[in-house]
Amino acid sequence: MTERLPGFSTLAIHAGAQPDPTTGARITPIYQTSSFVFNDADHAASLFGLQTFGNIYTRIGNPTNAVLEERVAALEGGTAALAVASGHAAQVVAFQTLLQPGDEFIAGRKLYGGSINQFNHAYKSFGWNVVWADNDDPATFERALTPKTKAIFVESIANPGGSITDIEAIATIARKAGVPLIVDNTLASPYLMRPIDHGADIVLHSLTKFLGGHGNSIGGIIVDAGTFDWSRDGRYPMLSEPRPEYHGIKLHETFGNFAFAIAARVLGLRDLGPALSPFNAFMILTGIETLGLRMQRHCDNTKAVAEWLSAHPAVSWVNYAGLPGDRYHQLARKYTPKGAGAVFTFGLKGGYDAGISLVSNVKLFSHLANIGDTRSLIIHPASTTHSQLSDAQKAQAGAGVDVVRLSIGIEDKEDIIADLEQALGA
Ligand SMILES: *Cc1c(COP(=O)(O)O)cnc(C)c1O
Repeated sequence: MTERLPGFSTLAIHAGAQPDPTTGARITPIYQTSSFVFNDADHAASLFGLQTFGNIYTRIGNPTNAVLEERVAALEGGTAALAVASGHAAQVVAFQTLLQPGDEFIAGRKLYGGSINQFNHAYKSFGWNVVWADNDDPATFERALTPKTKAIFVESIANPGGSITDIEAIATIARKAGVPLIVDNTLASPYLMRPIDHGADIVLHSLTKFLGGHGNSIGGIIVDAGTFDWSRDGRYPMLSEPRPEYHGIKLHETFGNFAFAIAARVLGLRDLGPALSPFNAFMILTGIETLGLRMQRHCDNTKAVAEWLSAHPAVSWVNYAGLPGDRYHQLARKYTPKGAGAVFTFGLKGGYDAGISLVSNVKLFSHLANIGDTRSLIIHPASTTHSQLSDAQKAQAGAGVDVVRLSIGIEDKEDIIADLEQALGA
């Protein structure tokens, strides 16, 4: 008999976990401890020298976090993962493992606003230079390549409008150039799409959004696909050169197809310090158990709301890749056949004032700057996240004065639609 490979929802509940060996506790405990006792002096020395895997100090690793890491690696089809304090921390730690001062990376311009800020401003002080390309035109990534390029970064389902990135086309360009493709899969979650299946080498998540799913915990994760050869030409010295921190070992030689995850932990997280609290890991693990159920409901509700809005007289346009006729619908059918996610934008004929009126009159929706909650969320970017831009800049960023962004929750869809109906009529 051949061994069955467990399906997505089975992995979401069981991967990485087993009953606690000392107490029999069925649920992964919160190992709320800063440090771990060594068996003896030899054990301590081998842990510090990376000759033995084990727990030392929660900034470097923790047993609750380890279950979360193994589970997300299993769901994404990676070899290993590293959980960190936030989605933004995942980005910093991943890039710190790849880039030296003066290096470049190419990023698809359609990104979470916080990532645009991080890349444009904070990374400047590290000497890391972002070069922007157009998610909708893979050739722009190829043209942006230089000898200093060390990575390509895109979102799978991209902000703000929920557009779908052609990951395979961009992965082909990255492979030819010999640089890793990093995909932020936050908006899709591995339930809707697994970027590694389409050629990604590293997958990142803000666990704060759909994976945690309940708007109660900040977290991030880095998944190593195990596909990239770090040894080829010395371009990634953190992975390919002898490490003075660890008796001169070369991480890619010692750790093979999970060397990136190890480097991010023992060089990045250890030294930069954004460790995930085990309590947050516990909350996020609980959220992941229902990921498949929630994502399907998110998608089904979102399609119904997008269809309803398309027929509403106050609405001028709806951008949702799940709608036939949407510019991204063919890509959605290929990359996210179970549904196009829960985040999308639409336009109001009444412009700026109509946007203000809508966010002021909703009752079920929460007016706030987040996505990926069980609750339905709404924001009018022109008066909030993008208010500092000129009207022309707003329009270019997909945040024109008439644009409203929704993140549809898992409430009853009739109630979500009824709330929009009363608020649009108010
Ligand atoms: C929220 C978000 C981030 C940043 O994650 P935090 O957990 O808030 O640090 C990165 N990428 C995307 C797509 C996001 O939605």
